[in-house]
Amino acid sequence: MRNLPISLFAIALVSITTSSWAESLKLNLRSQSKNPANPEANIKRVIWESGKTALIICDMWDDHWCKSAASRVVEMAPVLNDIVKTARAKGIFIIHAPSSVVDFYNDTSQRKLAQKSPFAKAPIKLSTSPRWGTAWCWTDGKREGVLPIDDSDMGCSCKGKKCEIREAWKRQNKLIEIAAGDALTDNGQETYNLLAERKIDNVILCGVHLNMCVLGRPFAIRQMVKVGKNVALMRDMTDTMYNPERPPGVDHFTGTDLVVKHIEKFWCPSFNSTDITGKKAFRFTEDKRKKSRE
Ligand SMILES: [Zn+2]
Repeated sequence: MRNLPISLFAIALVSITTSSWAESLKLNLRSQSKNPANPEANIKRVIWESGKTALIICDMWDDHWCKSAASRVVEMAPVLNDIVKTARAKGIFIIHAPSSVVDFYNDTSQRKLAQKSPFAKAPIKLSTSPRWGTAWCWTDGKREGVLPIDDSDMGCSCKGKKCEIREAWKRQNKLIEIAAGDALTDNGQETYNLLAERKIDNVILCGVHLNMCVLGRPFAIRQMVKVGKNVALMRDMTDTMYNPERPPGVDHFTGTDLVVKHIEKFWCPSFNSTDITGKKAFRFTEDKRKKSRE
């Protein structure tokens, strides 16, 4: 009994620490200058309220038609799961967005949460252009230049024989936990509803593939920027479909960095997962470049 006050003090201390922990995110948001005379990247330190922030996980499927792409997702998934756990504990709302396979989750509370969220009218008409099973936000010539990598071959990065394109995915990768209170959708309107219901202004995007779905899906960067959210890409938790044999002829990971910079220039800033976890940014084992990924 003599220890009780100390225990109570300890509990109080933990709860104070936890609640202040849950209040804010300190992000180092990097963007690229559009001014050729002053091409320096700009890093802006911002504080986002965790409770007004969502983290959307794009297309981290169980498999992919390209073997190299599939193995990179398997390498990323456990790291992303740890980041998501930390983000969730901070009070960030987690949306799993495994496009075209959401029916796999029809009986789950996370899918129902998205379906039951009340309709909220977006300030602009949401994209309805169909591509790959969802409504696509295409490249916007008024806002962005052409992508810095040629992905017209769909970007199989395997050496030698190229992988055959097929619908290889059935669900989200099992290594990413879908927890109570998370939502699951691949639909733009449902995503907008979920964010509006929770008065969420800030949206973090991660997952694959940056030059395709992380930009174009109806819950992804282009659409979220266009509806007026504060958007940021978690740049060490993404990958591209880029074949180094195609222009500009750089290695796969440099290709990804070029797309990150394209996004930072034309769409939204980016940050590393370090800003959420305090741990070192993720790097693929196959990325043998001397310079660490920035
Ligand atoms: Zn391949």
